[in-house]
Amino acid sequence: MDFTQAKQRIEWLKAVLWENSRKYYVENAPTMSDFEYDQLMHELEDLERQYPEYRTPDSPTQRVGSDLETPEDQAPGSKEFAKFPHKYPMLSLGNTYSIGEVEEFAERASKTLEGPFSYCCELKFDGTAICLTYRNGRLFRALTRGDGVVGDDVTANARRIANIPVTLQGTGWPDEFEIRGEVLMPYDSFDRLNREREANEDQPFANPRNAASGSLKLQDPEEVARRGLFCTLYHIPAGQVDYPTHDDALKAARAWGLPVSDDRKLCRNIEEIEAFIAHWDTARKRLPYATDGIVIKINEMDAQRQLGYTAKSPRWAVAYKFKAEQALTPILSIDYQVGRTGAVTPVANMEPVFLSGTMVRRATLVNEDQMEMLDLHEGDWVYVEKGGEIIPKITGVEESRRPAGARRPTFPTVCPDCGTPLVKPEGEAKWFCPNTDGCPTQIKGRLVHFLGRKAMNILAGDATVEQLYNLDLVHTPADFYDLQEHQLLMLEGWKEKSARRFLDSLRESRNVPFERVLFAIGIRYVGETTARDVARHFGDMDRIVSASKEELLGVPEVGEVIADSIFRFCRDPRHLEEIRRLKDAGLQFTVSRSEGGVSDALEGKTIVISGNFSVSRDEMKALIEANGGKNSSSLSGKTAFLLAGSKPGPEKLRKAASLGIPVLSEEDFRAMLPAGGPAPEAETELTLF
Ligand code: NAD
Repeated sequence: MDFTQAKQRIEWLKAVLWENSRKYYVENAPTMSDFEYDQLMHELEDLERQYPEYRTPDSPTQRVGSDLETPEDQAPGSKEFAKFPHKYPMLSLGNTYSIGEVEEFAERASKTLEGPFSYCCELKFDGTAICLTYRNGRLFRALTRGDGVVGDDVTANARRIANIPVTLQGTGWPDEFEIRGEVLMPYDSFDRLNREREANEDQPFANPRNAASGSLKLQDPEEVARRGLFCTLYHIPAGQVDYPTHDDALKAARAWGLPVSDDRKLCRNIEEIEAFIAHWDTARKRLPYATDGIVIKINEMDAQRQLGYTAKSPRWAVAYKFKAEQALTPILSIDYQVGRTGAVTPVANMEPVFLSGTMVRRATLVNEDQMEMLDLHEGDWVYVEKGGEIIPKITGVEESRRPAGARRPTFPTVCPDCGTPLVKPEGEAKWFCPNTDGCPTQIKGRLVHFLGRKAMNILAGDATVEQLYNLDLVHTPADFYDLQEHQLLMLEGWKEKSARRFLDSLRESRNVPFERVLFAIGIRYVGETTARDVARHFGDMDRIVSASKEELLGVPEVGEVIADSIFRFCRDPRHLEEIRRLKDAGLQFTVSRSEGGVSDALEGKTIVISGNFSVSRDEMKALIEANGGKNSSSLSGKTAFLLAGSKPGPEKLRKAASLGIPVLSEEDFRAMLPAGGPAPEAETELTLF
């Protein structure tokens, strides 16, 4: 790999990792498995080691993922949490999937540390981190990890988690101290919650971790109380209590009535650590909640102090992550599912099998190539994994159990729904049904997409779409806005309350900003981020419709494929007619002032920029001015902050440090704007593994 390729790969990895970090921490809806994410992170770490000139302070290797929402991440109607700084930064943990690397960690510690030391091995609880502050023996504040420096104040919610004590017991606690741990949702609460969500046509949570994290950020503490969360605590930052070991501090916390798990062990050497790991690799499957590894911590506080911290994690601890759980089960049949874009995905129906706390019946086979790569035959026994515990995937075939005479499944040549011959466009890995406007599954898929939370956020889901479509009441999104209450009341299952709720939510969707409307209308390859960029670039739909391909290519991050897709979409009279009807229905087709990033958020601030950004430097300067700030080329006592992109000038950084001027990344800066958004995001459809 030469320098240019390395730089490009680093930029790509950074963008993809930040995008997925946001999906994971803020949206609680990861689309990539943890294993895949960790692989990419390790690749980035390796590249940055080889090419240190491309390591920037905004790299995901240098900062913990943030659960803080930017204004545009917020669900409509949700309030913001107050934010408070952590007394000590809340960091991540170095992690590995290899015992060899745990051995290396132990060797490094032995080499660095002078006196004898031991290890405290604990379960790695798979929930969402919390930091509790007790003042005079009472729960004073509960913060999420946030970006590691500042967290969201979720005290009201923490008070409704049954095992978090509001008042401490016993004696000996300091007047004020922080203690950290994890909020978890046990499997049974998770299953109950998802059953309820499905019944209400809400998107189920991908896993208990996401459910716990989403629940902790609810605005209604009563609802939090109903979610069945619990907490386990595992760390009092050094300097707040005076115990010689980490284990002693946890014992004291336990005596004060704080929930500390007993499932930990002091180990003297790597053999004992490995035995602990081996034990819990199996035993954890019997726990009523999720764990994703073992944390190995140096137990002696003096030794911890000697080892210290990197920018992102303590050097005195490492997490050994368990490989995704696997199960072996036979395939009963294969369905070929058509998505809203017409893509056909093979899905295996399997003999139900218990995996990571839930029963798995179906798993994706991704595409025809993947089926060939697995050399899949009918009736095969297959290995199923839930990588980040998201959508189960088939990762291998057990050939020794193949039924005699089994044949390879034949991929359909026509659409399983409408019978149209499938096509495989050049460069695509999937087969597609080209009958975009006539294939019922695609039509219904587009309607469901239009209603979705990130699109128009209308309170209805698959079942409503199915019913309205089957009764010929709705074919395109604009038809929703023609529906009348009396029509709905004649339908099975509809009552006055549900009809009102639905119609109210349709009415409210008229306030949904243009960028989400553009996402909702479902132009191929136009995801949330592209829709936002395109909407802001052109300002309204008419300009997009009349834009040439070259003009579309002028939007940062929009390449040939996307430009071509938007261009073709806007040449189809049916789409133009649909847009006209949606406009008549009152939907937003123009960017409003606040969406455009125009505000007085930077009023009175003089800002110096340095380095490269996700947009050109001129655009960055224009953004500063549009939000009331002033640009300056040199740092002085009047500078509010240095806005540093990738590769900022070292001289500028030094001067900022000497003058005590804060240095902000693009992400931090954008978070200050009303609709600024996080640091560079990739429009990714990842098919990496
Ligand atoms: P982490 O989850 O790997 O480990 C650190 C966290 O472990 C701590 O913050 C703490 O909350 C928790 N923890 C649980 N038990 C603990 C114990 N006994 N002692 C100390 N800490 C304990 O790190 P992270 O920074 O929270 O998250 C990074 C990880 O999240 C990645 O490695 C990846 O696996 C996952 N992730 C996945 C995606 C995705 O798209 N799938 C995106 C971002 C992050």
